[in-house]
Amino acid sequence: MQDIRLKAFWTLFLWAFGCLLLGWFTNAHLAWLTYLCGVLAYLAGHLYWIHRLYQWALKPSLNFIPNGKGIWEDIFANLYHEMRRHSRSQSQLSSTLERLRHATSALPDGVVVLNNRNEIEWFNEPAVQRLGLKRHHDESQPIYYLLRQAEFVEYLQAEEYSEPLKLKSWRSPDITLELQIIPFASKQRLLICRDVSAIEKTEVMRRDFIANVSHELRTPLTVIGGFLETISDMQGEISPDIQPYFDMMQAQTTRMRRIIEDLLTLSRLENNVTLKDETEIDMKAMLQQLHRDAQALSQGQHQVTLHMEANVNLTGSYNELMSAMSNLTTNAVRYTPPQGKIDIYWQMRGEDVVFSVQDNGIGIEAHHLPRLTERFYRVDSGRSRDTGGTGLGLSIVKHILHHHQASLQVESEPGLGSCFRIVFPAQRILPA
Ligand code: ADP
Repeated sequence: MQDIRLKAFWTLFLWAFGCLLLGWFTNAHLAWLTYLCGVLAYLAGHLYWIHRLYQWALKPSLNFIPNGKGIWEDIFANLYHEMRRHSRSQSQLSSTLERLRHATSALPDGVVVLNNRNEIEWFNEPAVQRLGLKRHHDESQPIYYLLRQAEFVEYLQAEEYSEPLKLKSWRSPDITLELQIIPFASKQRLLICRDVSAIEKTEVMRRDFIANVSHELRTPLTVIGGFLETISDMQGEISPDIQPYFDMMQAQTTRMRRIIEDLLTLSRLENNVTLKDETEIDMKAMLQQLHRDAQALSQGQHQVTLHMEANVNLTGSYNELMSAMSNLTTNAVRYTPPQGKIDIYWQMRGEDVVFSVQDNGIGIEAHHLPRLTERFYRVDSGRSRDTGGTGLGLSIVKHILHHHQASLQVESEPGLGSCFRIVFPAQRILPA
């Protein structure tokens, strides 16, 4: 820029100087006339190149950029270099975009990019097959116009995307899709869609297998248990040497029956995703019953106290909630040494209501806590077995809470005790 201004200045300056010399040697009129003609010619030259620039700008093309003269040569040369750099980076960008498009098309999962109004901005080929989207036609359409299932619309609006959503495909009932929304940039979202039919099928087979095995084992075990009971009832007819063996066999049979009952309960809970026997539960009566059961199990060895602080009821399944809550109180009794203290609380916490069982028993080390609800996960298997545990209790609790949109929270310190809390959301609460 500096160069161009200097060039223009020197051109005009030299022309004026030449005219001054001319005026010196000839006369002033001729010098003025020559100067004026020169300035006019200079202006006309600029006007000409401005016109050429305007013409070129109407249809800018790298091949037809004018050459220019004087300072216009520099201007057009700079323009040419800038245009070339721009076109090079544009072709680089479009080839990167093309590669990205090919890569996302090769993904096995459907990918849909949504804007902040949940309108479709872009989708790849697998999204066409899995979700039935139509190229060109469905772009810019809100996604909930095309995927109208109530569960999906709820999932989209809830804005809680930590867990994926499983849906039966509306295109074919044999296909199960897993949809997950991932927010990115400012308010944009990626919708990932996966076909999980094969995994789902294996999961159903696993559930059926466990349910069938448990059913098949239940009858022979009942028969064996019955015979063992009959034999051990024959007082005096069995030699006292053999009696302890019978007692052991009976204890093991009872344990196996408990495991089978718990496995059957688990598969029932897994198969029924929605609640069937939903009623209003009188929480005062239920918690008093729980309190009495815990005292009976403790047989006076613990100080069990019920703190009824909230005056609200729940809607849900009485049997399921009784089973989940009694699992926690039973565990507190089983894992708290005699003379220990167990407190059962029913309290409001903000909009939610919380059921908690606090004990000052053996406690649990922090690294076990995330795994407690896994099937057969026990911190101390010996103690669990000795107190009649199956290792399935908290797993059952987790499923029941899932049915009631409730969550389980555990705090524990080894040697100091544990606190198991069930948090029920506001939608489950009814005034007592
Ligand atoms: P189990 O039948 O073995 O008690 P659960 O699923 O009910 O199975 O519990 C899993 C494990 O969690 C138990 O084996 C025990 O180690 C631990 N646990 C549960 N409740 C308590 C508690 N109140 N105090 C200490 N440990 C507990």
